[in-house]
Amino acid sequence: MKTLILGAGYAGLAVATQLKPTPGLETLLVEQNSYHTFETRLHEAAAHNTRVTLPIIPLLKGTGVHFEQAQVESVNIDEKEVIMKDGRVLLYDTLVVGLGSVTNFYRIPGLAENASELKSIDDADEIFNFINRAYSSDYEGNRDIVVGGAGLTGVELVTELAQRAEQLSKARGLPTINIYLVEAGPRILPVLDDALRAKAQKTLEDYGIHIMVGHRLMQATTDSVTVQTADGQQKVLPAGKIIWTGGIQARDIVKGEKLEKGPGGRIAVDEFLRAKNYPEVFVIGDMSLAMNQEGKPVPTTAQHAGQQGRLTGKNIMRLARSEDLSPYEPTSLGEFVSLGGLMAVGWMKLPWNQKLAMTGGMAHVMKKASEWKWRSSIE
Ligand SMILES: Cc1cc2nc3c(=O)[nH]c(=O)nc-3n(C[C@H](O)[C@H](O)[C@H](O)COP(=O)(O)OP(=O)(O)OC[C@H]3O[C@@H](n4cnc5c(N)ncnc54)[C@H](O)[C@@H]3O)c2cc1C
Repeated sequence: MKTLILGAGYAGLAVATQLKPTPGLETLLVEQNSYHTFETRLHEAAAHNTRVTLPIIPLLKGTGVHFEQAQVESVNIDEKEVIMKDGRVLLYDTLVVGLGSVTNFYRIPGLAENASELKSIDDADEIFNFINRAYSSDYEGNRDIVVGGAGLTGVELVTELAQRAEQLSKARGLPTINIYLVEAGPRILPVLDDALRAKAQKTLEDYGIHIMVGHRLMQATTDSVTVQTADGQQKVLPAGKIIWTGGIQARDIVKGEKLEKGPGGRIAVDEFLRAKNYPEVFVIGDMSLAMNQEGKPVPTTAQHAGQQGRLTGKNIMRLARSEDLSPYEPTSLGEFVSLGGLMAVGWMKLPWNQKLAMTGGMAHVMKKASEWKWRSSIE
């Protein structure tokens, strides 16, 4: 059974590391980078240049999976063909697609052209270089940063940047920069409950971050954004760096006549995470529109991508042994948001669907524990 796994993110790598050398199973993992990126820690790399990657090849030891660093151009699931950027065509019996998501700029004028994103190491490097440059003695431009989108990524990023700005400000004797967090919705971190959100909001205020909820980003230029309140009042915020973390959409790379797509271009899958109408194609992670037990879309998180990957890995082993597949039953073990340094807020799932809310150092430890757990599951 010739199996191709596309993408070595949380989803694809979890598949590969579940596999074992098995007669008749021939598996190739294709990924554009030679390393896996801990995407959930990119905000740390953006502020502090922290190393958040791991080489892939050593992780595949004992799996029987071959690796190829190459870029996928498109996937034609009607013809069962994966077309590579270099023109080659790869064929498969079973395909696993885990190519993740891209930033959604919602066609806001000037945004895609002028804003940085936070989806890759290159993005993180660009932000890191800006903040360092902004604190160099010969820097003459605007030093303020505007971050659009107050979800998990935006909030984690601004707190980390505020910390870095404070360090640089002290070390170089320059006044600190302004950091604006712009959000169209009425609140930051809509996924958290009110008490945890209030704690997070207070932490951001203590850092001096300007929180602008209820302000829709209307336009961006090279050095400013225009925001608008619900009653139509507009304001221009000059900025040295604009960063957009306000939305994602599934990578649009898979073509198929009978493919079904949902919100954000996510590909609808069945109970075994196979694209509807294409039983030989598993779609997992941010690209996949899987449903939970209540019939609601499973969130696009690393936690769910990893769960889906592990199940798919086990299902590929079952296919190789001609056994029945196991269905996907998503679980949310909790959610933690880091707020710079040793500060975090979040909740952990308890038995009988109870949630244990946590703030401060304990929440930080839980956040770190989820990262260690991921790392130990792939190493
Ligand atoms: C800053 C930040 C913080 C986050 N924090 C959290 C958090 O705290 N908790 C949480 O659960 N989630 C968090 N997320 C979301 C989480 O990172 C994603 O949901 C998760 O990465 C999705 O996994 P995936 O495997 O679908 O995609 P990815 O991890 O993005 O992996 C996709 C892989 O495909 C590769 N690829 C893409 N295109 C091609 C191509 N054409 N050819 C070859 N290879 C290709 C990429 O290089 C990548 O390795 C965060 C995201 C960001 C950006």
